Amino acid sequence: MRILLVAAMVLTSFGFAIGEQPTGRFDGYSDQERAYLKRLNGQPAALAYTPEYPGGFEAWQAAARAKLKDLIGFNRIAAHAAGHLPTVQLERETLVDGHWRQLGRIETEPGITIPFWILRPMAAGNQKLPVVMCAHGHDADGWNTYAGVYKDKEHQTATEKKQGNPGVQAVRQGCIAIVPATRGLAKSNSISDLNGRHGNRACRAQLMHCLLAGRTAIGERVWDTTCLLDWIASDLVGADAKRIGMLGNSGGGVLTVYVAALDKRIAVAHPSCSLTSYTSESGYIFHCDCCMIPGVQAELADMPDIAALTIPRQLVVVHGQRDSLHSATAVNESMKRLAFIYSQRNLDDRFLFRWQPEGHRFYPSVYWPVMKRALLLN
Ligand SMILES: [Zn+2]
Repeated sequence: MRILLVAAMVLTSFGFAIGEQPTGRFDGYSDQERAYLKRLNGQPAALAYTPEYPGGFEAWQAAARAKLKDLIGFNRIAAHAAGHLPTVQLERETLVDGHWRQLGRIETEPGITIPFWILRPMAAGNQKLPVVMCAHGHDADGWNTYAGVYKDKEHQTATEKKQGNPGVQAVRQGCIAIVPATRGLAKSNSISDLNGRHGNRACRAQLMHCLLAGRTAIGERVWDTTCLLDWIASDLVGADAKRIGMLGNSGGGVLTVYVAALDKRIAVAHPSCSLTSYTSESGYIFHCDCCMIPGVQAELADMPDIAALTIPRQLVVVHGQRDSLHSATAVNESMKRLAFIYSQRNLDDRFLFRWQPEGHRFYPSVYWPVMKRALLLN
């Protein structure tokens, strides 16, 4: 009895397998499980891309976008926030490390305030500058990390070593970087997981509360980003709203895929170590639970087809060869599918995919050349 109790305590303390690094095996299911998952995942997707879609490519994109908005609960969030006008408050700018840094806060729903960093090149003059939206993933301090707002020297060294500060990179390229906290991932914008009810995962707590209300966690993140894009387009001084890029690694890359799919203001999107099929061949789900969109595979399509809603705009994708969160087989199949859809529109040159030699991280040498061309930077 005592042994059982100890075992139960150990499981309670360490049993939150959600989001832990897998061992790289994506096919360890029993025969019975495999058969069940194959049947589930083998169902036809209602809105997968087909060249025969009635009305043609744009009609398919319009239908798929409308379905995506519906499935992520975007329309419900809009209804819940009806009558609310997002407001932005800005703190004073400070000069840091060769650029201007400013803290902003946007109230995207009543009582929900998302903090964000604005980084500006020091000498912009009157010239309007492109904007790069930087979306972080599962890092409670991710928006600070991305913006180069370091806790200490150790934080800075570790971040710079893996080139994990895309906001700082963006401002050094001559862009305005917008680096918001991501709801459910940033400590500043997470709902408590009381009693560890949701596996001691704030992002899963967010998901569960959202699902009860007919929303999704990813829908809230898309909503917040859309509110920021509205503000950038209407009020961000010095911003050229016709030249907006978006990037993110991991969960930030997942968010990048959905925002770029839905919002044509994103001229170039860079999901890093994130864009792949929803499941492995055997049914293993790659992304964290908080990225879940109920019914997406049946009612809409697999993730590469959703990423194809970015067409005709540019998409640059990387994956790390040593990233144990993803399967090379699934990634290769997904990239083949995306390349096919881009080629159907004769836009092969607007899609780039590269394997990179390391793990789950950014690879600036791949995405900056594409971003720079798309955002007309020298
Ligand atoms: Zn999560």
